[in-house]
Amino acid sequence: MGNRYHVPNRFAEGAQYIGGRLRPGTSGRTQAVVDPATGAPVHRYELAGPADVDAAVAAARAAFPRWAGATPAERSEALHRFASVLADRADELARAETLQCGKPIRLTTEFDVPGTIDNTAFFAGAARHLQGQSAGEYSADHTSYVRREPIGVIGSIAPWNYPLQMAAWKILPAIAAGNTVVLKPAEITPLTSLMFAEAATDAGIPDGVVNVVSGAGRDAGEHLVAHPDVAMTSFTGSTAVGRRVAGLAASTVKRLHLELGGKAPFVVFDDADADAAVQGAVAGALINSGQDCTAATRVYVQRPLYEELTEGIADVMATVRLGDPFDPATDLGPLVSAAHRDRVAAFVDRARGYATVVTGGSAPKNEGAYYRPTLIAGAAQDSEIVQSEIFGPVLVILPFDSDDEGLALAGDTPYGLAASAGTRDVFRAGRATRELRAGCVWINDHIPIISEMPHGGYRASGFGKDMSAYSFEEYTQVKHVMYDNTAVVRKDWHRTVFGDR
Ligand code: NAD
Repeated sequence: MGNRYHVPNRFAEGAQYIGGRLRPGTSGRTQAVVDPATGAPVHRYELAGPADVDAAVAAARAAFPRWAGATPAERSEALHRFASVLADRADELARAETLQCGKPIRLTTEFDVPGTIDNTAFFAGAARHLQGQSAGEYSADHTSYVRREPIGVIGSIAPWNYPLQMAAWKILPAIAAGNTVVLKPAEITPLTSLMFAEAATDAGIPDGVVNVVSGAGRDAGEHLVAHPDVAMTSFTGSTAVGRRVAGLAASTVKRLHLELGGKAPFVVFDDADADAAVQGAVAGALINSGQDCTAATRVYVQRPLYEELTEGIADVMATVRLGDPFDPATDLGPLVSAAHRDRVAAFVDRARGYATVVTGGSAPKNEGAYYRPTLIAGAAQDSEIVQSEIFGPVLVILPFDSDDEGLALAGDTPYGLAASAGTRDVFRAGRATRELRAGCVWINDHIPIISEMPHGGYRASGFGKDMSAYSFEEYTQVKHVMYDNTAVVRKDWHRTVFGDR
């Protein structure tokens, strides 16, 4: 396994980034970062405890007045420099992400890292477009205008599936709008979040604007959510943990943004291009080894195409190359950990009792957390494999007859993050975009995202938007300012209090 990445020596100082420098955690507990391709620990660090969260929140709070008071142009310039520092470090970021997640180097080099740099450049521009509504005399005696203001210290919590991109999605709109941030990455994948924060400092973003606490969810995570000096919680993760976070945030009446789980359907109508649907279903299901909240996990195929697509998808899945994530020829890396691989395998093993494993359904015999691309047919709509988020390279295929039935089945899970439809009929496409209840609907594709467009869920997939100018709705609050224009002592409306006296 050549060209592997080694965790730089500077991280021996610790995995907490507070007030512009690395320091150790004080929880008294340590955490290993494990290479999921080999099972070998590649780094060990002291986890953050409540005292570290307190220190990070204090640093963010101290940095807030100056950062919030910077002009949009000043924040924009800092973000442009940030994008440029990230671009200079693209190779290191890609290799560190591949090491800690097991993602194929093609994915980190062509998707995770350029996506993050582009997001940074987008928010550098967007920082100068923050606007309130235009002013006007909505009452004859007053002038009103709306100020759009930052909220304060944002406590952000991110998952392990796209650590760098999730750090970027959480931090960039928040700081572009003048907030300061304490980010808690998943404790098994802290490295690129720390590198992201270091790059912010090296770009001249003031100390304390971006802080990272690498700690466990129950410990550092809950302390951050419940912290009285944190004005908002922005959480990306599972729906189960999101529910708990929402409960904790309620105790301090925090603003909340929840990006939760998904179980995205891909509805293939009988006029679709069958080859394109096969390619799209496999790519949409296997991206990031299926550890993607928007991954195509349920493909519904109208009866005339069902057999052809089942065979086609199984054949293409069998050509996918599992291997060393650092080898550019590798298509599919391991899952993030052996424990997660076992969880995925258990879903498939339980499904054998009521469905057919068409291809895959096993783990190769090596030390990594690999699992073969898996297609499952014959499952009932209400079965676990169709309804639950598996978060692995597992696709379920189901037939449908009428268009009504296909769209109804697609909507029949608690989730609503993403969905897609394959058809060459413009009216079917139009109907699907209207009726699929999800935060993103693709036609004849599944997965692409771009900085300018919002990402976020409906229903059990959460609420609020990442990316795009829409994310400013989460990270700003609007204030109505009203001026009296009359200078009259006893104003007209005072009659409601004084009568005609
Ligand atoms: P998770 O919910 O287990 O953990 C997410 C984060 O929450 C981690 O940092 C974890 O340490 C922290 N956490 C855990 N318990 C906590 C608690 N009690 N209080 C506060 N924080 C706590 O999710 P995961 O396994 O890391 O990630 C996979 C999940 O993330 C999937 O459900 C996936 O769909 C979802 N996800 C959603 C999006 C989206 O945009 N909607 C994007 C990526 C991932």
